[in-house]
Amino acid sequence: MFDSLSEGLQSAFKSLRGKGKLTEGNMRDGLEIVRKSLLEADVSYPVVQDFMGHVTERALGKRVLLSLRPHEELVSIVHSELVSLLGPVDSSLHLRKEGPTIIMLCGLQGSGKTTTCGKLAQLLKEENIKATLVAADLQRPAAIEQLHVIGRQLDVPVYSEPQNKNPVEVCQNGVAKAKADGARVVILDTAGRLAIDEELMAELSRIDKKVAPDQVYLVVDGMTGQDAVNSADAFNKSLELDGVIMTKLDGDARGGALLSVKHVTGVPIKFMGTGEHMDALEPFRPEGMAGRILQMGDIVAAAREAHRIVDEKEREELEAKMAAGDFTLDDFKKMMEKVAKPGLMGKMMGLMPGMGQFKEALESEEAAGGIKQTIGAINSMTMAERRNPKIIDATRRTRIANGAGVQTPVVSQLIKQFEIMKPIMQGMAGGGVADRARMMQQ
Ligand code: GDP
Repeated sequence: MFDSLSEGLQSAFKSLRGKGKLTEGNMRDGLEIVRKSLLEADVSYPVVQDFMGHVTERALGKRVLLSLRPHEELVSIVHSELVSLLGPVDSSLHLRKEGPTIIMLCGLQGSGKTTTCGKLAQLLKEENIKATLVAADLQRPAAIEQLHVIGRQLDVPVYSEPQNKNPVEVCQNGVAKAKADGARVVILDTAGRLAIDEELMAELSRIDKKVAPDQVYLVVDGMTGQDAVNSADAFNKSLELDGVIMTKLDGDARGGALLSVKHVTGVPIKFMGTGEHMDALEPFRPEGMAGRILQMGDIVAAAREAHRIVDEKEREELEAKMAAGDFTLDDFKKMMEKVAKPGLMGKMMGLMPGMGQFKEALESEEAAGGIKQTIGAINSMTMAERRNPKIIDATRRTRIANGAGVQTPVVSQLIKQFEIMKPIMQGMAGGGVADRARMMQQ
């Protein structure tokens, strides 16, 4: 049983790797593993059939069978088929030139609607666009207050009418108020149910008809697998959806839901939620997602994350040092201190090519301890040693380890890692990251 789509696919590719020249027979074996891993990751049957049809046709073509690296060819075929299944890209909110643009969010209870309202407001705020949130989820008792908390946190106005039981009226009044206040965007947080029912759908279509939102987005919990597909299908039949926002893709989502939801709704996946915080919403990019599913990583997202935590000036200084080969253990320590926030290291590692497997290890308490040990070891070194760790001999290693209260191999390992990392860092500096990112996208 595969735990995730990427594990399954990786295992398929591994089984093909090292087989030397492939024959149609063993390529078919590999394709069968691809098919199984898609099904086990909750990708719905028709999607799998369709997808495999395209992949098989291309994989059994002469070019692949005759190529020197057939498994790489297969990875690239699966990647490009995933991209075309997940695309096309459209993360625009299609804002009106005049008057407020009304965006309605709908979805099952717990899918992340209320949180996503806040995240969208935050994105708009970063662009200096005034938004108003309307609390029209009158089903879940705490939803109104939750939206107010988010509004206060982001300093974005929230419209609610706690006594009014009619969500259509609340939305209409909210839109009127937002218009009067000069908001450019109104986001409606509508009710969800634990399961789809007719009453919910009737309520949503009343709002849809009377308030006429410009954009209707379905919020789907990326961790729910086949249920996500069923609910997406039901919402899509009752409402005219303009896009999907898939949440909780930071967890160990199996990835399958994303593929099927896209297939059943046919509307673009606009954004993906990657955490509980208000800034954890990213425009959806099929290339990045396909890469993540295949565990090729998403270096663009990693670079963006790094950008967010290190400010402009510091980054320029670091890049200049890296480019000049002047990057020292002291700079490394500063970076570690920045990223040593809970979960951040793991998150970044999860986004880096081939590093996905270390993600869990890095998120553990042990990892946090490991970072502390590393920082401690660097603290016990002299400035000259931090600049050039090659001068640290066995005696100094033991002294440093004793000083930091760690085992000597921790120090040795650190020095070794630093020596490996330094030339890589040097190569990545000065736009190198962006260049690589571009390469990954092609
Ligand atoms: P609603 O009932 O659809 O309004 O759902 P909420 O917005 O209240 O979200 C339900 C839970 O999911 C909350 O605990 C949120 O913090 C959490 N949540 C929402 N989006 C994300 C996400 O992208 N990642 C993670 N990890 N949690 C999320």
